Amino acid sequence: MDLDRINALRAEPVASASHIIDGERRPASDGAEIEVISPIDGQVLTTIPAGTAEDAAAAVRAARAAFDDGRWSGIAPAQRRAVLLRWAALIEDNALELAVLGVRDNGTEIGMALKAEPMSAAATIRYYAEAIDKLYGEIAPTGPGNLGLVHREPVGVVAAIVPWNFPLMIGAWKLGPALAAGNTVVLKPAETASLTLLRIAELALEAGLPPGVLNVVTGEGATVGAAIAGSMDVDVLVFTGSGATGRRLLEASARSNLKRVYLELGGKSPNIVFADAPDLDEAAKVSAHGIFRNSGQVCVAGSRLLVERSIHDAFVEKLAAHARAMKVGDPLDPATSAGAVNSLRQLDQNLRFVREAQDAGREIVLGGARILEETGGYYMEPTIVAGVAPGDRLAREEVFGPVLAVMPFDTEDEAVALANGTDFGLAAAIWTADLSRAHRMVRRVRAGIVHVNTYGGSDLTVPLGGVKQSGNGHDKSLHAFDKYLDLKTAWFKL
Ligand code: ADP
Repeated sequence: MDLDRINALRAEPVASASHIIDGERRPASDGAEIEVISPIDGQVLTTIPAGTAEDAAAAVRAARAAFDDGRWSGIAPAQRRAVLLRWAALIEDNALELAVLGVRDNGTEIGMALKAEPMSAAATIRYYAEAIDKLYGEIAPTGPGNLGLVHREPVGVVAAIVPWNFPLMIGAWKLGPALAAGNTVVLKPAETASLTLLRIAELALEAGLPPGVLNVVTGEGATVGAAIAGSMDVDVLVFTGSGATGRRLLEASARSNLKRVYLELGGKSPNIVFADAPDLDEAAKVSAHGIFRNSGQVCVAGSRLLVERSIHDAFVEKLAAHARAMKVGDPLDPATSAGAVNSLRQLDQNLRFVREAQDAGREIVLGGARILEETGGYYMEPTIVAGVAPGDRLAREEVFGPVLAVMPFDTEDEAVALANGTDFGLAAAIWTADLSRAHRMVRRVRAGIVHVNTYGGSDLTVPLGGVKQSGNGHDKSLHAFDKYLDLKTAWFKL
């Protein structure tokens, strides 16, 4: 990475941002703005529009008009592919600028941000662009007197409400397949991570995406997000974020037009280490990264470590050693392995979980405190809490911070019971050299993705989605198209 370039970019002032509606930059209808605080130093970075219900409605109107007149839905898939490929190339051309801007906004360490944000977003958009002119409809196996055709049509206006931890990556998981399929989109970024999504929406216009096809409205979830969720003219709502907000979106759908709602919610993912794991050093290292990278602000983070009792103490010590070696601090220093916590609110929430565990007599093996307070930024030590009981809040609720809950187990059955003992079902991992046990555990653990002898790193070719209260529907892979393409039957009498 080019350190001089990073340092030059981090010193650049960031102009006040605008919504992008119908291809135009627009302020909030009442001119109100939200100050964007950088978690690196707690200073005001810039402002974004504090969008209003009126702004949300204008964006939905623009998206509806753009869908209905066919300026995007009505052109050949190969033409959409060409525009989206140009967009992906522009995102790549601007990758470092986007990564630094995103890090100043949300605090993720630059090494991860560069790969996981612009580069991943470009790859995602390219994947769906390349796929869209290779999808066919069907001819049904009817009797001789009929012809049954199954068309795949875009669903219409898609609204996407996305979070702050990986705005470009998660945004692209929605935008890539939604736009490739011919839909138009209203995107609502998180208050603390809007800047890069606004920037890539500008690049989309530059790439030739027609005005109104991708609209971005910033602001508070309770205002802009709620207005989008309650709109009578949004056909599909896709969301990544908290369970509490997910519930509100379902209610809003029920109260309005029954728009389809797809949710990717939280997790409390079990990382299960058996004594016969092939390489305990590797398991400890990967597990440390699986919870502490991006300060634990990863929906699939392995936040519960379940360890077979015979290796418990030794393994926890190994993991703590790797965690101690991680450098927490300035996210724009390429040597940093965990950057800033996104906001003061999130940091306070992390610390509350630790205090509660301490008060309940749990063992704080490592960390537990805010650090580098003199920088004004929001930094927290990697934290390991052992002896957590299955009923503890730390064992059941998502922290979304660098806090690992450790629990011992004696048998495979007990590991399964602990693993499945929360309301969530997003990710899991099994570390074992026993092939049969690995397959058994994959079947028994209820989660959308089960890693075996690794944690994280799954690529775009496999679906990501949760079971239980971790959500419904899938991002990534060709299965993501299911949310954005409807089936229509044409039934002919011959
Ligand atoms: P977190 O607590 O991690 O910030 P949220 O679910 O609150 O998770 O945020 C995820 C996204 O949902 C953000 O874009 C946020 O603005 C939006 N959001 C929050 N509250 C609402 C709401 N009541 N209606 C619609 N969107 C919301």
